[in-house]
Amino acid sequence: MPNDTVAKPREGVDQDQFLNILSREDAIERFEAALFPRDVPSERKSLADSLGRALAADIVAPIDVPPFDRSNVDGFAVRSADLASAGESAPARISLNDEVIACGKAPVQPVLTGTATSIATGGPVPRGADAIVMVEHTQPLGADAIEIRRAASPGQFVSYAGSDIARGETLLRGGTMIGSREIGMLAACGIADVSVVRRPRVAVMSTGDELVQPGQTLRPGAIYDTNGAIVTAAVIENGGDPIFVGAIADDEKILEAAMREALADCDMLVLSGGTSKGAGDVSHRIIARLGLPGIIAHGVALKPGKPLCLAVCDGKIVVILPGFPTSAMFTFHDIIVPLLRRLAGLPPRAEAQVSAKIPVRIASELGRTEFVMVSLVAADGGLIAYPSGKGSGAITSFAQADGFLRIDALADQMPAGTETAVTLFTPHVRVPDLVIIGSHCTGLDLVTAPLARAGLSVRSISVGSLGGIAAAKRGECDLAPIHLFDEKTGRYNTPFLAEGLELVPGWRRMQGIVFRVDDPRFEGLNAQDAVHAALADPACIMVNRNQGAGTRILIDRLLGSARPNGYWNQPKSHNAVAAAVGQHRADWGMTTAPVARASGLGFIPLAEEHYDFAVVTSRKQRPAVQAFLAALVSPESHAALAGAGFRPATTES
Ligand code: AMP
Ligand code: MG
Repeated sequence: MPNDTVAKPREGVDQDQFLNILSREDAIERFEAALFPRDVPSERKSLADSLGRALAADIVAPIDVPPFDRSNVDGFAVRSADLASAGESAPARISLNDEVIACGKAPVQPVLTGTATSIATGGPVPRGADAIVMVEHTQPLGADAIEIRRAASPGQFVSYAGSDIARGETLLRGGTMIGSREIGMLAACGIADVSVVRRPRVAVMSTGDELVQPGQTLRPGAIYDTNGAIVTAAVIENGGDPIFVGAIADDEKILEAAMREALADCDMLVLSGGTSKGAGDVSHRIIARLGLPGIIAHGVALKPGKPLCLAVCDGKIVVILPGFPTSAMFTFHDIIVPLLRRLAGLPPRAEAQVSAKIPVRIASELGRTEFVMVSLVAADGGLIAYPSGKGSGAITSFAQADGFLRIDALADQMPAGTETAVTLFTPHVRVPDLVIIGSHCTGLDLVTAPLARAGLSVRSISVGSLGGIAAAKRGECDLAPIHLFDEKTGRYNTPFLAEGLELVPGWRRMQGIVFRVDDPRFEGLNAQDAVHAALADPACIMVNRNQGAGTRILIDRLLGSARPNGYWNQPKSHNAVAAAVGQHRADWGMTTAPVARASGLGFIPLAEEHYDFAVVTSRKQRPAVQAFLAALVSPESHAALAGAGFRPATTES
């Protein structure tokens, strides 16, 4: 496919900086060509400080280990020929030399024919002796002789000089990661310090007028700087030495000064934000002035991550990651981590890749390499990778994500059942003890809290009630939380169960109208009247819910055919509804009592929703499932649920 069809700039949306979009593979290839080969700077470190570092060069053993022929046991150094005919019925009588060879003591007397010298484990074998007889296999004969009733082969219980490590042999190869084992080998050779690859110094900088550092107060319209923290940590995880500069305002002069200062004493600068079209986006313009060859790629056919910018300025590496935290995370792990590890002298992070099967079809845009965040769960056939949260702004999907998969630019989908590579965010995946897939509710955390305290890990993947039932049927989870109302029977949840699943009652969530407590329009009304009052006031704005949400059914019933102002604002969560009302973007909406309470909003109850659990019968006896079921009915959970505004269910309907 010719390059220009990969992702054409859309007129009026993309500006000149995206005219030359490269494929992921082209971008990586060009970047590597501009970076390598390059000298790998090294530094000397004491053994203790070398832990976790990469050796800069091969290390040749300077001595033999052990340095002399050494006894492996406590016993007697003998000449094996003296014992050639020794046996049970023919004991050999050997006279003792007037010497005891302790550890660290060089022998003085040779072992002559018919004699032996007492020797300790680790003692140097004396001249003339060629074997050691264990003390257990001897009998004293007075003070100066012993009796031996078995033969000894030459070399018995002797470690020869250089048998562990031979002087001149390559002890460790350059590039080896130094662990306790390597430190042991170096210490045995008497090596006190080694030359290791110097950690690449990486300046980490965020850009954007809207960014506030964690710990500081969030002003209106501002957000916390997430990328700064993510990138700093990921740099450490991959052998770099990060210097976090902070968040710099979208001001060309200030930003350029900060970038120049950071580059002066770093090998690499990783910036995030300022790459997409926007009045404040200036960083890519600055790079062009920082040195040659300058920008290697600006605009890569990635989704998300298209605004990625890769540059080399006078030998220093400059990377601008997209601003959205998930986009920044994907592009950093996929494209920058392998380079960083190479610069740090570390091997590719092979352990950070696992193979997993996807349970559902994932649609993908043709022409861009697509990254999809996944959560891993274990099923009978191996690992299953659940796509978790699409959309580049969704930081929430991090919480349950283990890593990401990649869909090739030339594919428009990844079919269900595909076995694919998953790049892990951290090298260790812990397969969870309890897997919950279905509809999410904040009450769930209250019930699973004691499991976490008992050391059981819980993974909860939010795919909606129907998705949960499907996952439970495929055996991918232990339980599926559901809240499905059956219009025909007027019952919750039970009509939706399938064979192999059983319903365990959870709790009830009151749904109702939220409004600001200082808004007199809703005071003292019931839900019906409140909606009528809202519809009567043209200035009143509502916030709706997405199609398919249980809450939406209730809203539509109340509204009938009315389509008031705000109807098309359809967020996907209870919390978004509360935020819209709380922030005056809307005046009313429908959410749950606990969410309304947590947001300090007024609440008019309407109907109780049943939030229950479809438990996979065949997995019910698993300890984590039993622990969950016990927690569900415990007085502590009931108190916690009630305290948060839920009504624990005791019977099934
Ligand atoms: P930009 O690339 O600057 O246009 O940013 C794209 C989006 O990512 C905007 O919504 C920014 O507010 C957001 N963003 C940029 N930098 C950060 C950051 N360091 N932490 C969190 N969000 C960010
Ligand atoms: Mg910005």
